[in-house]
Amino acid sequence: MTDHSAQHGSEARVLSCRGIERSFGGLKALKGVSLHVNSGEIFGLVGPNGSGKTTMVNVMTGFYPPDAGQIELFGEDVTRVSPHRIAERGVARTFQNLALFKGMSVLDNILLGRHVHMRPSALASLFYWVWAQREELAHRRVAEEIIEFMQLEDIRDEPVDVIPIGLQKRVELARALVSEPRFLILDEPMAGMNQEEKEYIARFILDARDERNVSILIIEHHMDVVTAICDRVVVLSYGEIIAQGEPRKAIADPAVVKAYLGERAAQRHIGVAA
Ligand code: ADP
Ligand code: MG
Repeated sequence: MTDHSAQHGSEARVLSCRGIERSFGGLKALKGVSLHVNSGEIFGLVGPNGSGKTTMVNVMTGFYPPDAGQIELFGEDVTRVSPHRIAERGVARTFQNLALFKGMSVLDNILLGRHVHMRPSALASLFYWVWAQREELAHRRVAEEIIEFMQLEDIRDEPVDVIPIGLQKRVELARALVSEPRFLILDEPMAGMNQEEKEYIARFILDARDERNVSILIIEHHMDVVTAICDRVVVLSYGEIIAQGEPRKAIADPAVVKAYLGERAAQRHIGVAA
């Protein structure tokens, strides 16, 4: 595997989180997590359900301010910056639970990903701008390019609600890419996909990094995917880092094996199929 991690020291860091803490009521979801993502890297954030992965992403994208700790993006402090301002700095994300606009077509959903590049006046009328004259063509060109890149031509005019879940996840990824991010955060982009769809998405993620210069943080449960595409991983359990580094090595760490076995045992206990 090529080493895509930073050759130039800390200025090539896309993201740097130090000592992140976050509680919900009495529950400590993050207990002092420090991690960084290097420029050009595909970084995996893994761990059993409830270990704090989505919370970590919500903190780094401004959705939840941390109780303690510091976040830097592209070398600048963004610890209490709003999600909108973080998006403007070139960060795009997809959500664990699909967040597409039902009733709108695939193309229009993807076009909405351009909103970070709109002028404030256009932003005020989010839905009007699609038809607004001057900017539409430029936005459309980028959208068309992404639709081709992600092989969505055949369904571009379909309402998003009628296409299968695996394709909806692909549309969400397209909407994130169309904002032309420097840093892309994907929260379980392959959930609900079959093997073939997973391989497609893995290929798109690698191509996005290699051809579009995007650094990527991915939360992913499929360990075959993690070991195939990630340069480095951090493994969380109960809001703490229990292993990190080269994916194969980190995942085989006894602490990680134990954390996942615990999850399976818990699922058996409550009658959930693992
Ligand atoms: P993961 O993404 O690793 O499955 P989460 O970050 O979603 O884990 O959740 C970590 C812990 O924080 C869980 O115990 C979860 O129930 C709790 N949690 C997450 N978000 C909230 C919230 N908005 N309110 C209350 N508890 C939350
Ligand atoms: Mg999650």
